[in-house]
Amino acid sequence: MVSCSKQSQSQLGGKQPRQLLERALLFQDGQPGRELRKTRRSENAELTEAKRRLERSEARFRDIIQRTADAIIVVDPAGTICFANEAAASLFGTPSWKLVGTLFGFPVADTETTEIDIVVGVLPRVAEMRVVPSEWEGREAYIASLRDVTERKRAEAATRQLLQAEAARAQSEKSARRFSFLAETSAMLSSTLDVDTTLAVLARLCTEQLADWVVIYRMNGDGLPHRTHVHHRDPALGDIATELCRIPIDPAGIHPVLEVMRTKRSRLQPAVTAEMLDNMSTNPKELELARSLGVESFMQVPMVARGRSVGAIAFVRGAKSAPFEAEELSLAEDVARRAAMAVDNAMLYDDANRANQAKADLLAVVSHDLRTPLTAIIGYSDLLLMGIPEPLPATGAEKLERVRGSAQHLLYLLNELLAFTRLDAGREEPHWADADACHIIREAQSVVEPLAQQQQLTLHVDLPGSPLPLRTDPDKLRQILLNLIGNAIKYTKKGSVSVKCSPGAGWITITVEDTGIGINQNDLRRIFEPFWQADPMQRARRGGSGLGLSVVKRLTSLLGGTIAVESTPGVGSRFVLSLPVSRSA
Ligand code: ADP
Repeated sequence: MVSCSKQSQSQLGGKQPRQLLERALLFQDGQPGRELRKTRRSENAELTEAKRRLERSEARFRDIIQRTADAIIVVDPAGTICFANEAAASLFGTPSWKLVGTLFGFPVADTETTEIDIVVGVLPRVAEMRVVPSEWEGREAYIASLRDVTERKRAEAATRQLLQAEAARAQSEKSARRFSFLAETSAMLSSTLDVDTTLAVLARLCTEQLADWVVIYRMNGDGLPHRTHVHHRDPALGDIATELCRIPIDPAGIHPVLEVMRTKRSRLQPAVTAEMLDNMSTNPKELELARSLGVESFMQVPMVARGRSVGAIAFVRGAKSAPFEAEELSLAEDVARRAAMAVDNAMLYDDANRANQAKADLLAVVSHDLRTPLTAIIGYSDLLLMGIPEPLPATGAEKLERVRGSAQHLLYLLNELLAFTRLDAGREEPHWADADACHIIREAQSVVEPLAQQQQLTLHVDLPGSPLPLRTDPDKLRQILLNLIGNAIKYTKKGSVSVKCSPGAGWITITVEDTGIGINQNDLRRIFEPFWQADPMQRARRGGSGLGLSVVKRLTSLLGGTIAVESTPGVGSRFVLSLPVSRSA
């Protein structure tokens, strides 16, 4: 039969085989009248001939169908396969004679091209199927042509995978770049409290990574944003950037930074029109400078710390760069957050420094002013005790002795306070001189010896026979030793205090050891803190300010040395002071 495809059906007008045959005969020579008059024999011969031709034509058709690259399957309305060509057999992995009579298994009512999955063995195949309604052997049927697109699909999938991998790689490269930019920015921002230098470097980093040029605004004391840093990628435009930096922002204008800092919300402007730029500019000069630097798109991001706008950053791109996108805004906001923290920390540090300075100034003034009357009290007490202008009665002398002792203690405390405030404010400078460590130790010894005797302690001073030269500040070294030996005596009830000095390679080590109350391990970490004392009642009982060791620590580092301590409660303490013999050491 030849009427198995839509194409053959239309050519032959949808007739039954017999009629087709007759028509084929009719069209043989175009003379129907004469043919009908032919004898039955010749009619039969012609009929046979026509049948043969029809069979040949059908065979040719089948041959074409068989040889066609696409799989052709004829299915009856119940879904049973009536015919399958060789390509179909190979697509389904089953001989065509086996396919015939089985259920096709795919919907054929839809005339759209559909994609179907065919599971043959372990490798699934994909075919594009197009179905046309037709007839087969005189009955209603559907002809499904299937094109094996497995390889094309695999190639498409591979290309898709490749593109996805490429996109993922590009994304991860982007993330890595973003991460390293943020890491670099954070490291830079936390490296110093000098906010001006920090922001200048930040502006440069941002132009390298994110924008053609960057403006950093900071809130001034007048409550208005000011451009503090403008940096352009192109060094040739550096002067224009500097000039723009000098132009104040009109608080009554509509510059975006005003809005951004007020609302604490960023603004992304992917495209800037000439009119917009015109409106944003405070004056013609500003407009001219902005045009020279190039403004095609921008991001304005506030710097917010502890809920306050401390400034803003503008990221700007010119005509040669792509407009900013939302993804870049989130990066810019990250940078601005970090910058805000750095600015805020620097501001807090400045505030703390100023407060500290004010405290130091006050302490210095008070201590200095208290010292003058104290010196007079001590001086006049001395004179009276010496019997000038006339001898005192014994009871009066004893009382005056106490006045003098208390005044001297007060002077000692004031001197410590003064020394500490000067050191704390960084006002103390070493006065370098060539000195002999042994000589300075002996000087300190002569001052503290009476104290040791008073407490019936033995003071051992073990010094080498020859001088130990070093370059240092002798007054400061003496002060260190007086504090250390003074403490050793103060905190030792019985036993001894010993001082040793030994030279090392480029260093001199002075050890002050006692057999006193000692310090427990937890307290050892705190003894160099100002005003700290192991026993809170100690100030009342033994006196002392709690500043001695913090002064020692600061003086030691001023002289380029180190101080270490070891102690066992109830056994004693050992303080080891190491000082360089020369400044280069
Ligand atoms: P203070 O004026 O109280 O002596 P310091 O700063 O000199 O202040 O010392 C801090 C604290 O360290 C002292 O109050 C004391 O508790 C402890 N300390 C210092 N030196 C010694 C020592 N040689 N033996 C035991 N405790 C000591």
